[in-house]
Amino acid sequence: MEFLQSHSRVEMISMAVALAAIVGGTAYYYYVTKKPKGCLDPENFKEFKLVKRTQLSHNVATFRFDLPTSDSVLGLPIGQHISCRGKDSLDEEVVKAYTPTTLDTDVGYFELVVKMYPQGRMSHYFREMQEGDYMAVKGPKGRFKYQPNQVRAFGMIAGGTGITPMFQVARAILENPQDKTNINLIYANVTYDDILLKEELDAFAIKFPNQFKIYYVLNQPPQVWDGGVGFVSKEMIQTHCPAPASDIKMLRCGPPPMNKVMAAHLEALGYSPQMQFQF
Ligand SMILES: Cc1cc2nc3c(=O)[nH]c(=O)nc-3n(C[C@H](O)[C@H](O)[C@H](O)COP(=O)(O)OP(=O)(O)OC[C@H]3O[C@@H](n4cnc5c(N)ncnc54)[C@H](O)[C@@H]3O)c2cc1C
Repeated sequence: MEFLQSHSRVEMISMAVALAAIVGGTAYYYYVTKKPKGCLDPENFKEFKLVKRTQLSHNVATFRFDLPTSDSVLGLPIGQHISCRGKDSLDEEVVKAYTPTTLDTDVGYFELVVKMYPQGRMSHYFREMQEGDYMAVKGPKGRFKYQPNQVRAFGMIAGGTGITPMFQVARAILENPQDKTNINLIYANVTYDDILLKEELDAFAIKFPNQFKIYYVLNQPPQVWDGGVGFVSKEMIQTHCPAPASDIKMLRCGPPPMNKVMAAHLEALGYSPQMQFQF
């Protein structure tokens, strides 16, 4: 009562406003700093249920796995991957790396786009997987560290399924209006039908014409084709990627023979080891 009597109405309102600001500020601080806990364990495999399988072509499918609750996030740092465990056709255990195409802004689930090779050991497991089956996953894995605006531009060279980490990094950059990083992606495949995530990549190029550019390269192009032909060459890199500089980075991910050739091309073009990263 004494407190009430010793303060004017204006003072009381100001104090109430200040208190509300502190409470509101605390809630905001809590919201931005206390991210939801991820579901991965780097030491132990954890089981996730396949809830949706969407066949994209004869040998590529999207696999959607549920997280424990509808507001759970996977908790995988951008550009890192997970280890998936399955059994091959001889019932022997096999563990392989996969990069989800989803981010932690996709809540309650994560998705993998997987290409299944006829003789592939883990491919066999994915081919046999039915909705309702479980897969064991461990992670995060990988050395890539993403920070918004960490470089002026990323040049990306991807082959086949090597597009998945590039896609994840590109999505994180383009979905963050504060991140002004430019992206120049060269994406190589054998045939047109092998191109993964084409619709999504083309949508990026249309929505962010000044920030995201893509150049497709095919070994066996269709009759009408305005992209590159053959293997990714030094000239293609020179034309379509940022020139060597201390504030750019060239990211590579493809089959081992392609990675080797790309590393040699980049070295010959003057990209230092610090300007390169291989997923
Ligand atoms: C960091 C990282 C992330 C990855 N992310 C993905 C992803 O998101 N989606 C995805 O589908 N894969 C991804 N991969 C590849 C994946 O880890 C497996 O290598 C792939 O699924 C083949 O495994 P497999 O056991 O079925 O084939 P294996 O038993 O290892 O190979 C059997 C045969 O399959 C064929 N084959 C295997 N791999 C290739 C290839 N890359 N190109 C051409 N032919 C091949 C070859 O004929 C080979 O002899 C990623 C790899 C890495 C390193």
